Amino acid sequence: MKETLEIRINYDYANLLFKADEGKNLGTTVKVVKLSKDDPRYKEIPVIADVVKRKYDRGFFFGWEYRRKYTKKELELAKLFQIKIKVTFEPSGVECGTLYDETVACEICGANRKQVSLLTLKKGTIPKMDIAKTIGGEIVVSDKFANAVKVRNLKGLQLTPINFEVGVSDYSQLVASSEIELSPNTVVGINPFNLSTSDEGEIYKCPQGDTIGLNLLSEAYVLNNSPINDCDFLRSKQNIGVKRGLLRPEPIYFCSLAFRKMIEEEKLTGFEFEITNIE
Ligand SMILES: [Zn+2]
Repeated sequence: MKETLEIRINYDYANLLFKADEGKNLGTTVKVVKLSKDDPRYKEIPVIADVVKRKYDRGFFFGWEYRRKYTKKELELAKLFQIKIKVTFEPSGVECGTLYDETVACEICGANRKQVSLLTLKKGTIPKMDIAKTIGGEIVVSDKFANAVKVRNLKGLQLTPINFEVGVSDYSQLVASSEIELSPNTVVGINPFNLSTSDEGEIYKCPQGDTIGLNLLSEAYVLNNSPINDCDFLRSKQNIGVKRGLLRPEPIYFCSLAFRKMIEEEKLTGFEFEITNIE
C-alpha cells in the first residue's frame, strides 16, 4: 500500500516549505501538494503551522486527504473493505421533513438518533451517482444499485423507499443491519498532525464510547466479530465526527469482496474503497 497525504496549503505561506513550481496552485489562495510520510517535509508541516499561527494568526493548511493505493495482490487477498462515498449533498433528510427521535441519541455526542419515518428528500437534489450521502449522513442508492444487490443476493443491506416532498422517487435509502467493532489501532484525530480529542468546546471522544474522534486518519482496523463472514455490508459500532448544525457523528461502512466485485462489474458510481485490517 502506498499512502500519500494530499494537503491544501495556504498559498500565502506555501513558500516557507514548498518551491513555487511545486504542487498545483488553485488561483492565489491554495496550493495542493502531495507528500508521502517519509518526505522530510511531512514532519515540518506542524512546525511551520505553529509559526504561521503565532506570527500571523493564520492557518498554514486548510483541507487534507489521505490517498491509499494498493497492489493487485493486496486487493486480491483482502477480505473486508471500507466504503468511501465520494459525494455529499444537501438538503438533508431533516431539512425535508424526515422525522428523528433525538431523545434516544447520546446526550454528550449526539450519536445514534433514531430515524422514525421514511427518508424524505427534495426532488432534483440527489447527485447522478449510484451512491451518495446527505450532510446528515443518510445514504441514498440508485435503482440500478438496489436491483444488482437483489440479483446477487447480498446480505446485510436494508433498502427502504425514499419519498420526495412531492411525488415518489426511484431511489432507496441504504442502512446496514449489522455492526462490527473498531479496534484501538484505528487512528482518529482532528487532522494528521493533531490527535486531540477536543477543541474549542467540542468533544470528539465521547466518554460513553459511541464516538471516538473527529476524523479517521488511518485505514480502519476492526475486531474479528462474526458478522464479517455473514454480511456483505456492515457499519462500525463506533462513530466518527461531531454534532455541529446538521452534521452528526457517523459510522464507517464496510463491505465484502462480493460487494466490491458487484460495484466493479456493474460499473456502479460514487464508490471508493480502502482495505480494512481485521484483528
Ligand atoms: Zn456519545
